Amino acid sequence: MSQLVTAYIGLGSNLDDPVGQVSDAFVELAAIADTELTARSPLYRSDPIGPPGQPDYINAVARLSTALAAEALLDALQAIEQAHRRQRDVHWGPRTLDLDLLLYGELEIDSARLQVPHPHLAVRAFVLYPLADIASDLSVPGHGALSTLLAACPAVGLERLDHEH
Ligand code: ATP
Ligand code: CA
Ligand code: CA
Repeated sequence: MSQLVTAYIGLGSNLDDPVGQVSDAFVELAAIADTELTARSPLYRSDPIGPPGQPDYINAVARLSTALAAEALLDALQAIEQAHRRQRDVHWGPRTLDLDLLLYGELEIDSARLQVPHPHLAVRAFVLYPLADIASDLSVPGHGALSTLLAACPAVGLERLDHEH
């Protein structure tokens, strides 16, 4: 029997029906082998970071219980991104779906293709607020209590979409 690990995934989309992209991604996360979707946050609308002129983002966080190793889970996340990017490639637009491995149990990972906790997690409102919706007592390895991170990160440019799912 493999050990089950609780992992958190950050979802983001700002193209081609972002609410639909993120909703579909939850279904696809639930279908990953040896993995269960155990919680999903509400959807949030966030101001885009990076160059101006981009559409707003839809963001959310998923909690998984998985028997997969972290790298295998990243493979599965990237396969889902690729499935969504196929549409994007046709239109030559920006990405339709971003799936970040935010946390993998208590583990800290720093390899060529994987840094966990996700490097920018601690300062991104669009990650911290949905994470807190489904994991309020969480402690982030290397950073401390989620509640402390939240207190230092105002929800500027972030709006919870209470009417979604
Ligand atoms: P950011 O990391 O600032 O959110 P991004 O999500 O736009 O930026 P991507 O282009 O999606 O970045 O990913 C670039 C690379 O990041 C991926 O190829 C992957 O190998 C690497 N990576 C490192 N750590 C992680 C992680 N925790 N989750 C997802 N990808 C990661
Ligand atoms: Ca990202
Ligand atoms: Ca990413």
